[in-house]
Amino acid sequence: MGAAALRHSQPWESVGRTVTGHLLYGNTVSCHPGKLTIHSGDTGMRIEIAAPRSVQWGAVDIVARAVSLFFSACDPALWSKAPCSGVRIDIAPGEHPVTDLPYWSTHLAGRHTSAGRLFAKMSAVSSPYPDSRGFARCVLREHLLLTPQHRDPSWPVLHELGHILFFYCIPREDWRPGGLLDRLYWKRLIHEEAYPSRYAAQNPQEYQAEAVAIYLLARSGSRWIMEHDEPLAAYLAKLFPERRIAHAHAALTGRLVA
Ligand SMILES: [Zn+2]
Repeated sequence: MGAAALRHSQPWESVGRTVTGHLLYGNTVSCHPGKLTIHSGDTGMRIEIAAPRSVQWGAVDIVARAVSLFFSACDPALWSKAPCSGVRIDIAPGEHPVTDLPYWSTHLAGRHTSAGRLFAKMSAVSSPYPDSRGFARCVLREHLLLTPQHRDPSWPVLHELGHILFFYCIPREDWRPGGLLDRLYWKRLIHEEAYPSRYAAQNPQEYQAEAVAIYLLARSGSRWIMEHDEPLAAYLAKLFPERRIAHAHAALTGRLVA
């Protein structure tokens, strides 16, 4: 089948049949029942978005948009040695807990995060360990995507991809306790300096993931980080070169980032 654009508005059912070679946000994608696969030419990564058939196409579309932005913006060299063969993003339908999905129920049901929260109550989770196919994994609830609590519905997806980027592509000595980014987080806490978002203040890992989402979403976000957290901005600029961010936004919106 020749390449054709998948439309934002089409129902998931209508694309839930096996089609290949479609274009979505400038990426070649293949679509099988319940699964959309994006092939990121730049990074060589295969990104699967998997969802039960009841999940609305709009939720899949939000994830696909965020994936396109993220992988177009980041430095492809980061992924060349990543110990994963791809990324799989699951969407839990409606308000179902993420632990209702098969893989996640096995690994997370009845367990708590390091902060003591039950995984079943989380809206999104990323795993630092690859699955049996070597894929990095994260999961988000459909409800979180379709009733956004953030200015941009892509935010939580970029946040989870931020976690995956740090788990898989960033040297551990940079983000583990005592590392460069860990020290930046604690220094702000000690000096009572503002964080890029309220959630970023939770702990060093949320500080990193929130920074990625905020840095990528709008000029205003990256400007805030540059003005208020210079060392973090310098670090993020290495991961996401300015020119690539501008091109990624232009591909998604038809204009340069505002
Ligand atoms: Zn997080």
